[in-house]
Amino acid sequence: MCTCNSTYTLSGNTFVCTVCGTPFVGTPRGTGVPNPTTKCGTIWGVCTKLYTLTGGVPTRGMVLGVCTPPAPKGLGLNYHTVVTQYQRWVTHNGYNTQKGGVTPTLTQLGLG
Ligand SMILES: [Zn+2]
Repeated sequence: MCTCNSTYTLSGNTFVCTVCGTPFVGTPRGTGVPNPTTKCGTIWGVCTKLYTLTGGVPTRGMVLGVCTPPAPKGLGLNYHTVVTQYQRWVTHNGYNTQKGGVTPTLTQLGLG
């Protein structure tokens, strides 16, 4: 924590002060970004990995394909949670939702 009274941004798995870079313990209010250690944060992480892997905004189907099937094929997360967090991730980053696409495997994403 710091006394900058500034905003925090996600750096890797930690929120850091945008002014001094001090890590924030937990999830600061108002970032709109879920803590990476939570299920919601996991979904955001998948979205970001898919973006990096495919070079474009992942489709809802791709994110669902990774997040909802039970292990070992997927992460076994709730359908509605995934849909909600995908939408929030897209909006937060100023993207548009996408359709279609082929879902990468967990191994391709470095999650399996
Ligand atoms: Zn600071």
